[in-house]
Parts: sequence; C-alpha cells; structure tokens
Amino acid sequence: MPRAHYVGVDMGGTSFKIAVGDAEGRVVCERRAATQSEAGPEVVLARLAAESKAALEEAGAKAPTAIGIGLPGTLDMRAGVVRYLANFPGHWRDVDVRGPLEKALGAPVHILNDVRAATLGEHMFGRGRELGAQSMVLLALGTGIGGGVVIDGKLRLGALGSAGEIGHTILDPNGPPCGCGSRGCLETFASGPALSAEGVRLVLTGQAPRLREIVEGDANRVDPRAMGEAANAGDDKVRAAIARAGTYLAQVIANLIVALHPELVVIGGGVAGLGDLLMDPIRRGVRDYVKMFPVDTVRIETSTLGDRAGAMGAIAWAMQGGMPE
Ligand SMILES: [Zn+2]
Repeated sequence: MPRAHYVGVDMGGTSFKIAVGDAEGRVVCERRAATQSEAGPEVVLARLAAESKAALEEAGAKAPTAIGIGLPGTLDMRAGVVRYLANFPGHWRDVDVRGPLEKALGAPVHILNDVRAATLGEHMFGRGRELGAQSMVLLALGTGIGGGVVIDGKLRLGALGSAGEIGHTILDPNGPPCGCGSRGCLETFASGPALSAEGVRLVLTGQAPRLREIVEGDANRVDPRAMGEAANAGDDKVRAAIARAGTYLAQVIANLIVALHPELVVIGGGVAGLGDLLMDPIRRGVRDYVKMFPVDTVRIETSTLGDRAGAMGAIAWAMQGGMPE
C-alpha cells in the first residue's frame, strides 16, 4: 500500500503556505507562494493546484490522500464553497473551491476557516499536544482577532462553522466601529492596528520618545513589534498601552473560561510576539476577574507553531476527513 500523504494549505490574502504531512502528522515538505488574489479565483486555484503538485513531488509522494485548506472567511464547509473572503481582492463570493481542486489533484478536498485550522493545528501538533489539553481556546491576534474552540478533544464549528469568532465579542456597544458592522468589539481595542493607532498617537503627542527613535520619526512605521521594543527600552506609556490591550483580552478570556472552562488558552498571531509585555497583563487580569472557580489550572500560553499552525491544522483536517457526517 502506498504511504499516505496529506496536503495542508493556509490561504492568505498575499501569500499561501503549503505543507505536506505523512500519516503520523510529520511535515515532510513546506512551500510558500504569492497568492496574487487580484487575478481572481480561477487563477488562484490553478496556482494552488500546481504548487500542491510541486510540493507532493518534492516530498516524493505520487498522489495526496486528502487535502485540507484553511481560508480566511465565511464558508459552506459541506459544499466546499467559499461564501465570502475578508481582505481578499478579486471576486470571491460563492466560489467552488472543492470541485476544481478535486479534479486537479484527484483526492478529497476539505475546507475550513483559517483560524479554526490554526486552532486544530495547535491542538493536534502544538501547545495543546505539548500540554495534553483536551479543551482549549485559541486567539489569533493580527490585523483582526480570530479564534477557535476545541472542547473535549473536538474542534467545535457551530451552525455555520463560525463558532470561535472571539474577536467580535463586544466590550463596549458604544465603542469604535468594527469591520464586522458592530461597535466596540475586542478587535477594535486589542488587534495589531488598534495597538499601532495608540502607538502613533503617543509618538505624535511626544509621549513615546523611544518609539519615536525606533521608527526614526516616521509614525507610519509604528507597529506592535516596534512598540514592544520601545516598551522594553523604557517608554512607559507604550508599555501601558500594551498592558491595556492585555487587560481587554483578559476580560474576554475570563468570560470564555467561565463559559467553557478550557485547560488551555493559546495566544497566537503576530501580536503575540510581544511576549510577557502582553501575556503578564492577560494572566493577571484573568486571575483578577474569574472568581467562579480556581483558574490556576488554566494555562495561558503563546502558540508553539507560530505561522505554521494554519497549514498544520489543515493537514489535521484532511487526516480526519473534514466535517464529520
Ligand atoms: Zn466586530
């Protein structure tokens, strides 16, 4: 019997990652390519098929056993159809992803939301496996805030596969408008752009001298990474801004812990690179807020897979055959 090979794809607006894994979940080959999403779905799917074939060849595999694809948007997982992709140029409404790819690659294609894929990846191959957690929540902090939920060893998808949209938990119904159409979502307070906007304000009002130096006076260059550097170099206002974002996150995480009591909360995405500057206020806040039961058994940790979590989770999704019947 030929060895099983699974392809996992993490599709982003500017680039996509492909990983080929074996039946034990070991990654045997990884590739990255530009999405060129402005060329439209047909071209992108053809490129995806070609890159998958190249990756399989590189891995010494003839044909894939199954393919998993994480996509940043709203999907009809059973039909293998993209309903809508956020932050994706080109017309991506009601696009059949499964049909053309199954034809091109000759194996079943299973799609899911990209952050749900990252959650599954951390659960199966990352921090979740390391700590033996059967129930975990993931928050991916980037341009937006995505999330995912695993309960009792199972990725929970909910009615539309939208279970886990933690970034759109409302903290202030009169707060800043959010991309989702609501106001005052966690995303408007603790995403990368929300944090950067506060960094820009501090630079422009002369309250962040270190940050100003780091970005050489160019406020457009302020990002969470520069803010982390500035905070560690002594900018107290920047440190406080990061801590404030952490406290907002702690509020939402405390509510999640009360509702779901996971053993593990994983913080991923680029903003998680702030490390203790962000993680300490999160952990402190959660300890302060949750009084229902002791939370010292709930671990709050950064992701171990980083930006590989999505592709690894897509492999896991392919291995388990997508949505259970
Ligand atoms: Zn929102």
